[in-house]
Amino acid sequence: MKDIDFERTEYVTNRELENDEGEETGKLQMFSYDNEVFHYKLTCPYCQHTFEGEEELGSRPWWIECPECTRSTNVYRIKDKKKREIKDRAPDPSDV
Ligand SMILES: [Zn+2]
Repeated sequence: MKDIDFERTEYVTNRELENDEGEETGKLQMFSYDNEVFHYKLTCPYCQHTFEGEEELGSRPWWIECPECTRSTNVYRIKDKKKREIKDRAPDPSDV
């Protein structure tokens, strides 16, 4: 993977990926300079195969398919997941 020029990135993520058991066995680094072409390096959470590439991704959801086991990984918005977790949590009276 090329060095990332963070000054120019419109999108960048670096995260662990979970397998079906919820274990963080995979990894994803992805960035884009124009929100059209996305460069990524992915370690498949299902088979640990590591591959990289670049792809034009349109609107979400984004799926990246592993060439080894052909399972797809969903690149969800981290913000969305956080929001959902917060909503699922019962209100904490000490927050008030
Ligand atoms: Zn795989």
